[in-house]
Amino acid sequence: MTDQRIADLTDALDGPDGLRFVRAPGRVNLIGDHTDYQDGFCLPMAIDRDCLVGLRPTDGGRVRARSLELSGTVDVAADGSDDARSVEPRWGGFVAGAVQTLVARGGRVPGLDLVVSSTVPAGSGLSSSSALSVALTMALGDTAGLELDANDVARAALDAEVRATGVPGGLMDQLASVHGVADHALLIDCRTLAVEPIPLPREVAVLVVHSGVPRTLAGSAYAERRAATERAATRLGIASLRDANLRDVQDDAFARHVVTENARVLAFAAALRDHDVGALGPLLLASHASLRDDFAVSTPELDLLVDAFVAAGALGARLTGAGFGGCVVGLALATKAPRVLDRTVERYRSASGREPSAFVVQAVEGAGRVGP
Ligand code: ADP
Ligand code: MG
Repeated sequence: MTDQRIADLTDALDGPDGLRFVRAPGRVNLIGDHTDYQDGFCLPMAIDRDCLVGLRPTDGGRVRARSLELSGTVDVAADGSDDARSVEPRWGGFVAGAVQTLVARGGRVPGLDLVVSSTVPAGSGLSSSSALSVALTMALGDTAGLELDANDVARAALDAEVRATGVPGGLMDQLASVHGVADHALLIDCRTLAVEPIPLPREVAVLVVHSGVPRTLAGSAYAERRAATERAATRLGIASLRDANLRDVQDDAFARHVVTENARVLAFAAALRDHDVGALGPLLLASHASLRDDFAVSTPELDLLVDAFVAAGALGARLTGAGFGGCVVGLALATKAPRVLDRTVERYRSASGREPSAFVVQAVEGAGRVGP
């Protein structure tokens, strides 16, 4: 699969001379949403859908990029002088953002021809944007003479993404993409950036269903929620809600979500370590209820989809990512997974009138160089 895609990129770049390739996976977050930007805990995994970048240094000080999935040619200055928010086509903002963030870190980005190709569905909540920004940052960082460790790449990729989109995202997606481990979920402490890979039970499958509703409000509402949690921390006189306890936030639903969600992530991690499969589903459902009732980022469709998962025999399910549309992640016994997925899709389709798309995902290793 990857070989064929590398061959396609090689064709698009007129042959293999001087080419190198970097791959960065998308991610699904199993539990812990809207906690990363408050120094909290989350538990994503890198998935077997990824972005590949092929590139070759050129003369002339321009970074030219194409995508096998999206039209148009991006052409930005290698010195970082282009404004990432005004590059056309729009996805070129990620290229300009990656150049800028590497230049800001002292890198000298050479002229480059590059082509990207991604199997992460865009706009679905599986973080095609971070797969792209991590792949670009790693690939360009390599050519710019920078020695970046995995966390440096994640931070620089987040910076590139914020420059491209203006959305003040947290670091979870990029950390998951760089630190992925096959068959493991990743417990991430967003304060220290410590990452603990924890084996996923073999008998459990991870299922993702897109609600068929795009996350249109996600950018603005995300920023609003984030600001509300920052105000709550300020009111409490603490640096972040990571340091709040439940008593402190009893009367603030947004802050209460962050505090209870952190506790659920730690309980979920403990259940994985203890191989307590029975504990996983209820924690997912409790997380969804908190995102729906306290954090108010669910939608009727996401709620229906979680109900459909449960009725179809899943262990549990929750909205994943920012909310306001996008995906639900569910866990099911592997032996039942195909049936659970079919039934979930069927129930959801007839209850909502929407057209869902479904994925079974595997945990894979994180971003790195591939190919010749
Ligand atoms: P998500 O990260 O949930 O998939 P986003 O809206 O954050 O959704 O990111 C989607 C954006 O990422 C696209 O609009 C585009 O700018 C960029 N992108 C994703 N996949 C590709 C691709 N194959 N080629 C070029 N740009 C892509
Ligand atoms: Mg994204």
